[in-house]
Amino acid sequence: MRNDFDNNSFRDFEYIAGMDAWGRAKLFQAYLDDQTEKGQLNYRLVTTTGCGPVVEMKGIKMISLVSNDYLGFTQHPAVKKAAIEGIVKYGSGAGASPAIGGHYDYHAYLEKKIAGFFRKEHAIIYTTGYTSNSASLQCILTKDDLVILDAGVHTSVMEGCQCYNRKTVKHNDLDAYEHILKMSKGKHPLILVIIDGVYSQDGDLAPLKEIITLCKMYGAKLMVDDAHGTGVIGRTGRGLIEACDAWNDVDLITGTFSKTFAHIGGFVVANEEMVNYLKYQSKQHLFSASSTPAAIAIIKAIELIDEEPLWMSVLKDNIKYFRHGLLGLRLDIGNTKSAIFPVRIGDKIKNAKICHALQQKGVYANQINYPAVSLKDARIRMGVTALHERAHLDEVLNVWEDIKKEFSL
Ligand code: PMP
Repeated sequence: MRNDFDNNSFRDFEYIAGMDAWGRAKLFQAYLDDQTEKGQLNYRLVTTTGCGPVVEMKGIKMISLVSNDYLGFTQHPAVKKAAIEGIVKYGSGAGASPAIGGHYDYHAYLEKKIAGFFRKEHAIIYTTGYTSNSASLQCILTKDDLVILDAGVHTSVMEGCQCYNRKTVKHNDLDAYEHILKMSKGKHPLILVIIDGVYSQDGDLAPLKEIITLCKMYGAKLMVDDAHGTGVIGRTGRGLIEACDAWNDVDLITGTFSKTFAHIGGFVVANEEMVNYLKYQSKQHLFSASSTPAAIAIIKAIELIDEEPLWMSVLKDNIKYFRHGLLGLRLDIGNTKSAIFPVRIGDKIKNAKICHALQQKGVYANQINYPAVSLKDARIRMGVTALHERAHLDEVLNVWEDIKKEFSL
């Protein structure tokens, strides 16, 4: 490995032949220092105000496009009140894992609520969205099964499948799905296709109806992670499954409470037997403490989606407005159909420099590089929320106009 680290990525430090973890950490530190000095490491930036359309960084106000708080519920008075009341009533922690004392009425109610939100009766909650994918998959899959993954699924899904037979399909390529399904039909006890509803880096949608047809044709089960579709897509915010009216065609619905639901945690919605199986067999649910009473905030956030549909309509207007503005500037935003806006830059160093330049001009957006996206597909990722005002979006668009000239985009 060279000392000019510009060609390296995080992945290069995961394994270096003959070097132990402390050796790798030392080398990685040199990489971090080099990239920080060059202004190319725009991660873990410290903000001193809460999640919202404007945040403060080192005393400077910036328009923030980094949160997934799509409906702005982290700041909703009723959601905050619910969290506070939860803590006042039950204390700050649950004190145990669910099977052995850490299962309270608010957990049971939250499970009912999230299942009902997705028009089902049964759900299991996990303490993060990440584990709702990784832990449930580790429980469901065996060495005899086959998982077919879209290349765009989240790391938590990849991690859940890493010890099992898996085939990764080119993003949204239906021919590739069909080819693998045809080749594998009848050869495994379980063939599980895993897709996102809305993809987290491109913001585009899965061709859900077509994938359902393929799964039925070739005897596969289907899991959909709609972390970014919930609260954003579908007439009442139930995501892509609602938009496609596919309520009876998805075997496992997974998602997170950390985006539209304004807290932290995740869930799997499935039939009663599968949910019970996970409750007693999924290790990270069984042996890890359950969510804190502040999770009562989630119950209120779920209710607010129906009680205050205004937030979704404001979000939809904001998405339309921002999309129109970025396209007007002829920036490459790919095929996004959601609140996620990638501006595709390609080269990762240029991307990092643009991210830094945006910050200097008061816009906080994320740099996304390999391995989160493929090597030559670095992009700036922005998320629009219902709390962004027109003036914020106009300001961001003005800044992009400058950036476009400065970086010859
Ligand atoms: N699924 C997707 C598609 C995600 O984008 C994320 C996180 N951004 C997760 C799952 C994990 O959720 P959490 O951050 O709530 O653990």
